[in-house]
Amino acid sequence: MNEEKKPYEVDCDDLLGNSDELISQKIPPGVDRRSFLMRSAVVGAAAMMTGQNLLASDRTHEAVKSMPVLRPFSSGLYVHLSAGAPIVITADEFYKVGPGPSSSHTIGPMRITYDFYQRCTKLPADQLAKATGLRVNLFGSLSATGKGHGTERATLAGLIGMEPATVDPLFLDGLREKPDQSFKVKLGGKELTVTLKDIVYDAPKGDFHHQNTMVCHLLAGNEDLYQLEYYSVGGGFIEWKGYTPPKKNAPKYPFETMKELRAHADNNKLSIGQVILANEMSIAGKTADEVNAFIDKIINAMLATVKSGLSMPEDGVLPGPIKLHSKAATVYKRAMDEQNLADRGVGLLSACAIAASEENARGHLVITAPTGGSAGVMPSLVYALMEGRKISREKVREGMLAALGVGYLCKHHATLAAAEGGCQAEIGVASAMAAALIATARGAESRVVENAAESALEHHLGLTCDPVAGYVQVPCIERCAFGAVKAWTAFAIASNEIANRHRVGLDETIQALAQTAKEMNSKYKETSEAGLALSVALVDC
Ligand code: SF4
Repeated sequence: MNEEKKPYEVDCDDLLGNSDELISQKIPPGVDRRSFLMRSAVVGAAAMMTGQNLLASDRTHEAVKSMPVLRPFSSGLYVHLSAGAPIVITADEFYKVGPGPSSSHTIGPMRITYDFYQRCTKLPADQLAKATGLRVNLFGSLSATGKGHGTERATLAGLIGMEPATVDPLFLDGLREKPDQSFKVKLGGKELTVTLKDIVYDAPKGDFHHQNTMVCHLLAGNEDLYQLEYYSVGGGFIEWKGYTPPKKNAPKYPFETMKELRAHADNNKLSIGQVILANEMSIAGKTADEVNAFIDKIINAMLATVKSGLSMPEDGVLPGPIKLHSKAATVYKRAMDEQNLADRGVGLLSACAIAASEENARGHLVITAPTGGSAGVMPSLVYALMEGRKISREKVREGMLAALGVGYLCKHHATLAAAEGGCQAEIGVASAMAAALIATARGAESRVVENAAESALEHHLGLTCDPVAGYVQVPCIERCAFGAVKAWTAFAIASNEIANRHRVGLDETIQALAQTAKEMNSKYKETSEAGLALSVALVDC
């Protein structure tokens, strides 16, 4: 009997009726899924209409041949060339302690000039004997928004031999208050004098190798005795012209994608945090105790930055022309009075994120996780888990390691620099890391950890960077609170949904992050030329 078909049923005689027959479902890495599926369907339909019988693998081949491959980034920097090899970033490269307000505009430049200072001290004595001065030229985003970030002060501090992790923030505050101070720099037998005038805000626009480019000069009069071009590539990471990465040992569990990372965890009955710990030990040649001691130092610094921010006066005003009142203490105090527990929880978490972020705005010591602008996100969750939920240090440590796995993947395939990718690369990555932290600390399986991180990142895609007046305050401070709350929301969804029905993988979302970063209008990449930076009028108050 020939039963009448329902409208949604496929006619098996109609070769175009069953899309499974037309579309190769196996999407090769590095290609855009949607374009691939469309092209695969076209290839399949054409083959069927012309009487050919193409295998799925042939359709994949034909579809890929006809479409452009997505490249994560076209920049020549090592950080963007490393895709294709296992990730070998280590915790102490990623979590860095240093002065706010921006890892790429303060910690990075300070590391750069400290590096240049160190190189100069090793130059031959006869060369140093001719030296008369030092100069640093800042380009691109460093020039466009550096004044609001205090880039010149951090740059000068590095040049006179100070390091980010140990610099006294009061020294930087003092430079803001008395900008005419001069300092002696001893290079071999030579003593040079430097001031803030030796840090030059140069061209904000041009064909730079990286948006955060700076050139350091050791001068003899107007001539260069020695010079080097550097790049502050985000999260406090630095590179320079001709940079080659330091040699490292192979990771115990090599991975380049979340899929591979999870496979290591699941196949070896480890958590994602434990896989990262094993890799850390093999890459850096450290014991578990040494790695844990470093993570503990970062946890303690994160707790300290939240506590310090909460202890600041309620009526304090943050540095800069916005004259923004700090509000962490007020939000915390009022949230504590909330009768509704859920309202109280969201309020307290937000207050903690604002507290650490306001510390960043003050130029006080913060931790890159992954950057200074996002420095409120991870600390607020560490504080909430340890001080609020009383989760053990061991579990939080494991969560911090899992968060590193997420951060490494984002850095490896996309970017952590707002100057390259907008705020999605800062707060989005921080939120994804924080979601992985919460999920791991709460004992979730690897799939839930991935799903939580994925959701948190997905819902920051496209977020632009438009700091008002070039200061990491508006929208940055509240944005840290949203990054923290979104991380918790992502965990709440991931831990309550059916994990294997979660449709989007973290690898796909990181690819979307890279593509969005690449195509984002450059005005929205930490230039303060658009968005809120344009629409918010500064008035004297
Ligand atoms: S808007 Fe986002 S990316 Fe830009 S400075 Fe602020 S926190 Fe960083």
